[in-house]
Amino acid sequence: MTPEELKALIRTIPDFPKTGIQFRDITTLLGHGPGFAATVEWLAGEVEGAEAVAGMEARGFIFGAAVAARLCLPFLPIRKPGKLPCRVIGVDYELEYGLDRLEMDPGSVASGQRVAIVDDLLATGGTALAAAELLRLAGASVDRAAFVIDLPDLGGKDRLAHEGVVVRALMQ
Ligand code: 5GP
Repeated sequence: MTPEELKALIRTIPDFPKTGIQFRDITTLLGHGPGFAATVEWLAGEVEGAEAVAGMEARGFIFGAAVAARLCLPFLPIRKPGKLPCRVIGVDYELEYGLDRLEMDPGSVASGQRVAIVDDLLATGGTALAAAELLRLAGASVDRAAFVIDLPDLGGKDRLAHEGVVVRALMQ
């Protein structure tokens, strides 16, 4: 399938989760077997060479885990606070309104392991930057991230590049 055909599988929901936001909904892409498979294949091609794949809760789990399995690589879940049963490390980061936090098991990464980040959508880059910081705290080397959708007006790609993370996105 072409990127244009895949783009047509994304549904836009106006005013979700609040007024003025155009939410790009990937549920319709997941519901299309060949579209989901082609998306995973594309993301896998972009992160090939990595030694592990990390995905952020929750939609990053869907694509990240599929990509990791496709490449026979470990999958590292980057979780919302309070979800992991083991000792965790965490990073706080700013959202448009307020703070959020990501956590992971520091023992899931080997020192210097090359980890690629996968998520559904890149907006400001705040979430992916926090994930990169967290993975680096755990000892990983993070130099690339692959997304299904990039919202280029929000500057996430440049913010990540500034921190040494090259961004690839299937569609804008
Ligand atoms: P950022 O931290 O780059 O500003 O926002 C990206 C994060 O928010 C991603 O984890 C993504 O799942 C979520 N997100 C923000 N806006 C949207 C949207 O319109 N659609 C989807 N599917 N996710 C979004």
